[in-house]
Parts: sequence; structure tokens; C-alpha cells
Amino acid sequence: MNTEIIDIKKEYERALAAADEVLKRGDVAAIPTETVYGLAADALNEEAVKKIFAAKGRPADNPLIVHICDIKQLTALVEEVPEKAKQLAARFWPGPLTMIMKKSGLVSKTVSGGLDTVAVRMPFSPAARAIIERCSMPLAAPSANLSGSPSPTNAKYVFDDMNGRIPLIIDGGSCEIGVESTVISLAEEPPRLLRPGGVTLEEMTAVIGEITVDEAVLNRLAEGKKAASPGMKYKHYAPKADITIIKGSFEQFKELVTKDSAAALCFDGEGELLGCPYVEYGGKADAYSQSARLFSALRELDEIGARKVYARCPDTSGMGLAVYNRLIRAAGFKIIIA
Ligand code: AMP
Ligand code: MG
Repeated sequence: MNTEIIDIKKEYERALAAADEVLKRGDVAAIPTETVYGLAADALNEEAVKKIFAAKGRPADNPLIVHICDIKQLTALVEEVPEKAKQLAARFWPGPLTMIMKKSGLVSKTVSGGLDTVAVRMPFSPAARAIIERCSMPLAAPSANLSGSPSPTNAKYVFDDMNGRIPLIIDGGSCEIGVESTVISLAEEPPRLLRPGGVTLEEMTAVIGEITVDEAVLNRLAEGKKAASPGMKYKHYAPKADITIIKGSFEQFKELVTKDSAAALCFDGEGELLGCPYVEYGGKADAYSQSARLFSALRELDEIGARKVYARCPDTSGMGLAVYNRLIRAAGFKIIIA
């Protein structure tokens, strides 16, 4: 299969028309969003949705997020819209927030990974919104990477993974947020945070009050404090390089990197002080710049041929929780407390 790339900033009309054609014929197109690139198909066409799973090599029990551009599209997808979902939507949609609710009969089990709930998001990205508006269908869209590798934050990285597997990539430049959306379940009370992202736990708590942080998120954080990795089955977002997070000062980090001849995944301005191969992933005190850089930094480590990588540990408050959550998985939960 030939994979065409169209730059939506240069060829707006042609990009929208091509995406519309591909999606309406029940095929898959990669589209830009503010979080990461998505692999989109008509959410209500089961055959089209199956093509997403095939292109990604994604396990069938891992559900997809359904993307909408108008709140009116939500009612048909869910059994009912809980009051707290309305409050969160009013405050954070369009934006990097995915809400899980009881699904309606319209949503197939293929989309929901066999669950009786559905995940819905209204993206902020003007390109994503224009594409959804043009084809006027909700789009199921997981991240546009091969299952297991880092989510793509630009069209080149989508192409690296998807060349020959999908017919169309819409290039919208680099994704501003750079990590996947926050996922919160409103199918239970109190609501439960399943994945940290661009809308922070603190921001959501200010709107709807108590939110449970899913045990898996806490366990992962707790397990991360041990030196031993809990196993490859929890390894996601993984570059080829073997990553270990180093929790400690810059001086302690420098000493370990030098002693063990590792490459460094470090903060802006630190690399040239280290004397080893390095990739920088944002400002030390700026979690938003870290999230915007992290996934491309992981891919750059592969591009420079890094094998053993030590990573600086991000702060875990606010947006830092999303950065840490991805990095600890990329590291297969290996962390050294210096
Ligand atoms: P991705 O689109 O690749 O960012 O992955 C979507 C994420 O949302 C995955 O971690 C899914 O497990 C999660 N997700 C989607 N739908 C549901 C659902 N109905 N219940 C729980 N998690 C979900
Ligand atoms: Mg993904």
C-alpha cells in the first residue's frame, strides 16, 4: 500500500478532502491532534475500526478513544451523560481530556475492547476538528504508532511506523502537548483517573471534587521506587534503548552516567556538561516542555544509536505526573535512587 502524506497547513482543502474520502470509504487515516497523532477511522463502522487494530498490531482488548467535534455527538455514543461529565466537558472540552462513560448500543464492542463503556474526547486541535467536522462522523483514534512504541508527535514518526500500512497521513506539524490525553472514568463514583495527561488531576479536582487515582497508576509509581523492574509486560512507549531513571541531583546523575558509560536523557542545557551522548527533553522546571519533547526524545535516542540510557527524573506534580507516567513505562519501571 502506498502511504500519502499531505501537509494540512500547505494544502488545507486537499488534505480535508483526502481525509474525508479515506474515512468515508471505511479506511484509516493518521491525523494530527494536540496530544499525539491519531490513527482514525469511522467509529461506527466495525470493519473500518478493525483496520486500526490491524495497522497498529494492537491487542483487541485495548479499547479506542472516540473523537467528536460537537457536544451533540456525545449523546448518541453514551447511555447517559453524568452531571460531572457535563462539568468537566464545560471546563476542559475541547482539549486533552478523555472521559469514560457507559456506552450506547451504537458503539461496538470492537471499539470498546469488549467493555460496556466508551472513551470519548473532543480535541482542541483545529486540524483534528476540521477533519471530524468534514466527515461528520465520530472517529475512533488511538495513537498512530505501532503497538508498544512511543506515540508519534510529528508526521515523520507516524510515517516511520505506518508506511505501507495505511493510505493517508495528514501532516499538521508537531503536537503541542506531546503526551496522550488524560483518561478519567465517570462510569463510577467517585470518578477514577486512569491515565494522567494534559488536563491535570489538580485541575479536575477543582471542578468536580474527589477523584480516585487508579490503583494501577499508584502501584506503578510505587513499584518504580524499587530497583528491580516488575517485568516486560508493563513496558510501553519503549525505544530500543534500555532506559533507567536516576532519581537524584544532577551531580549524582553525572557521576553514574560517567561510571556506567551510559547515554543521557536529560534536561535542557545539561547535555553539554556531561561529556557523553545525550538527548535533552525540556526544561527542568517546565513539565509542559518535557511532555512536548518526551516522545520525540525517546525516538531520537534510537536515532543516535543509544543502547544504555540513564534518564533524569521529572517532578511528579501537575503536568509532571503525565511525564513521569510515560517515562517510567519507557524505562520498564527501572529506577535507581541515587
Ligand atoms: P491510546 O488511544 O493509544 O492513547 O489509548 C487509549 C487509552 O484509553 C488506552 O490506555 C485504553 O486502555 C484507554 N481506554 C479507552 N477506552 C477505555 C474504556 N472504555 N475503559 C478504560 N480505558 C479505556
Ligand atoms: Mg497509544
